[in-house]
Amino acid sequence: MALLQISEPGLFAEPHQHRLAVGIDLGTTNSLVASVKSGSPACLPDEQGRTLLASVVNYGKDGVIRVGSSAIARQNDDPSNTISSVKRFMGRGINDVADLATPYRFVDEPGMLKISTRAGIKSPVEVSADILRALKTRAEQSLGGDLVGAVITVPAYFDDAQRQATKDAARIAGLNVLRLLNEPTAAAIAYGLDNGSEGTYVIYDLGGGTFDVSILELTRGLFEVRATSGDSKLGGDDFDHRIYCWILEQAELSALNAQDARVLLTRAREAKEALSDHPSTRITAVLREGVVVDVELSVETFHEITCTLVSNTITPVRKALRDAKLQVSDIKGVVMVGGATRMPQIRHAVADFFKQEPLTNLDPDKVVAIGAAIQANVLAGNKGDDEWLLLDVIPLSLGLETMGNLVEKIIPRNSTIPTARAQEFTTFKDGQTAMAIHVLQGERELVSDCRSLARFELRGIPPMVAGAARIRVSFQVDADGLLSVSAKELSSGVEASIMVKPSYGLSDDEISNMLSDSMKNANADVQARKLAEALVDASSIVNATQAALASDAHLLNTQELSHIENSLATLQSSMQALDANAIHAATEKLNEITGDFAAKRMDAAVKCGLAGQNIADFKD
Ligand code: AMP
Repeated sequence: MALLQISEPGLFAEPHQHRLAVGIDLGTTNSLVASVKSGSPACLPDEQGRTLLASVVNYGKDGVIRVGSSAIARQNDDPSNTISSVKRFMGRGINDVADLATPYRFVDEPGMLKISTRAGIKSPVEVSADILRALKTRAEQSLGGDLVGAVITVPAYFDDAQRQATKDAARIAGLNVLRLLNEPTAAAIAYGLDNGSEGTYVIYDLGGGTFDVSILELTRGLFEVRATSGDSKLGGDDFDHRIYCWILEQAELSALNAQDARVLLTRAREAKEALSDHPSTRITAVLREGVVVDVELSVETFHEITCTLVSNTITPVRKALRDAKLQVSDIKGVVMVGGATRMPQIRHAVADFFKQEPLTNLDPDKVVAIGAAIQANVLAGNKGDDEWLLLDVIPLSLGLETMGNLVEKIIPRNSTIPTARAQEFTTFKDGQTAMAIHVLQGERELVSDCRSLARFELRGIPPMVAGAARIRVSFQVDADGLLSVSAKELSSGVEASIMVKPSYGLSDDEISNMLSDSMKNANADVQARKLAEALVDASSIVNATQAALASDAHLLNTQELSHIENSLATLQSSMQALDANAIHAATEKLNEITGDFAAKRMDAAVKCGLAGQNIADFKD
């Protein structure tokens, strides 16, 4: 669940109004956008009914930016201005792509490579933004409204630079990123929901440009990533490239110009896809200068020339199993994701290795987008189906401000929702009739290091001595992800509460920053908490002693009075010096010295209370 923010009662007239949110699978070869409509997730088609949008962008002579099939149509004639598989270049430098056969004019720029196009020098971020913009337009037309945000999937392998590049692309496209989600997790969400299964699953994701393997454990609707591995430079494109090299060999061709290379790579891809359903395929092309290519590729030959690529995918699978300390027999199922898993040799290799048939009942192209859409629906706070309870955990602890600017955690992070916890608090001062409740989220000890979610006041507490009132503060996160906090004084029954709504403003990075801050600062936080607690205890006894002296100093002789005044002064100066140990010692001392004084006051109070009372008053 997302972080929680204040919702003023009455501010959201329709708290459960369906908010339009989408899941986007920004793939190397194809991209998809999906959304949950009437409770079920579906990929959104374009006007021609196609759900896949080829991740290809053409910067045309006419100044028009074309995305998808209209860009592919220009690929052969305009290869250097038609960018495909741009995901491979996200957050990458020129050295990372040196071995790829591409027709692009790369420009080496600090930070990330760029591509020189007719429309100017484009960074992979800008090219990706063009793809995302096309998906956003499709979604808005299909859903009939503005999107509140999108969950965008990235390979588990993506490093910070690549993730940041993806977020930047979304921002440029005018999308509000609800969250970046790892592709395998999205696939697991889609499959987990369908099958409602528990156990350890392998997500084998072979897309156009990347290979990801993840081992996920599903328990009671929660996904725990046990291990990930993969190869960010291995995918279906490499199979195309093997066929391309095979064609060059068969047709006895040497290095080709960019346009011819593009033509043959396209033919190679078509052949690869055809071989998923046919025993052989014919590859024909007429290249520049009239060179004719006409070759027949059989499934057997295709399997032969790509067998090292297939076994290259098994190496990371073994590694992931080793990292998770699991055996093949521990794996309950293998989820196939990515268009390239349609290749029969891949399915066979996976079945051989895991000694079971992989799960292929969901479309391997749509699985990720569907999982992302389900997650987006949750993050947008749409009231939903039972299914969306599956995923939700509270990413950061929820708590309350206590004396000394400290945070008392009430619901720890990673609690699944719905959840409810309560804790009792008490008043700090004699006669205190109101209590300020400050709801916070975060892992750190001090209020200033956590995020403030809501504030409200409990008024009408009957005046009592400090520490006598019992105020029960309850935190409840309901199935809709709404947090409500209520406070009740138990003797009088006075109550106050506030509703807090889920927000979608906090990014994964912010959450992980908050978490890593809490780890980094653990020691400093402990010291800060110690000092703050010492100060709270000290001020409490200072207040109580001063109040007692003001009313009952006459019960003390001069020596007793000066003793108490001296240790009071010592405590106050140690409080000013902010020395936790000294404060603690001085508090103990004052506590000890005022023990007799407290007894005298008690005696006096009892005498005074009894004065004038009739014995009959004690009968009941
Ligand atoms: P993705 O990145 O998940 O969109 O996967 C795209 C890759 O899947 C590309 O390399 C496609 O050529 C490949 N692909 C799509 N359909 C098939 C198919 N029927 N057989 C083999 N590969 C396919």
